[in-house]
Amino acid sequence: MCLFCKIVDNQIPSNKVLEDDNFLAFHDISPKAPIHVLVVPKKHIEKFHDIDAKDMGLMSQFIQKVATKMGLEKNGYRLIVNNGPDGGQEVMHLHFHLLGGAKLNWPHFVNPEDRAKKFL
Ligand code: AMP
Repeated sequence: MCLFCKIVDNQIPSNKVLEDDNFLAFHDISPKAPIHVLVVPKKHIEKFHDIDAKDMGLMSQFIQKVATKMGLEKNGYRLIVNNGPDGGQEVMHLHFHLLGGAKLNWPHFVNPEDRAKKFL
């Protein structure tokens, strides 16, 4: 069972924000912003590339509820999904990072050496 499946199954504790039959939101253990919540489907879906339209629709609505519950509706927030090795995904269970609570920077994502090689 993967790390986030264990969190969904309560085998590993988490600081929960919201849950329904299909999704769970909990605080990231290593926050990168004043508010940093992870949103996961309860069923194991490895990565964003594998989710279908129906589940993505439901997940979008759930994420909106989480953002509202965290008080982020008015000032906004950022959603990030790391997908696969080049996307920097470390936990292979689909999760959206919901970040907010401050005006966020828009950082450079690629190392300078790589930027020189590519069309960036
Ligand atoms: P990613 O690099 O997109 O796969 O993100 C994985 C995220 O999971 C990171 O932001 C970690 O800080 C977070 N994380 C890892 N273990 C836990 C945990 N036990 N509880 C909450 N967040 C976690």
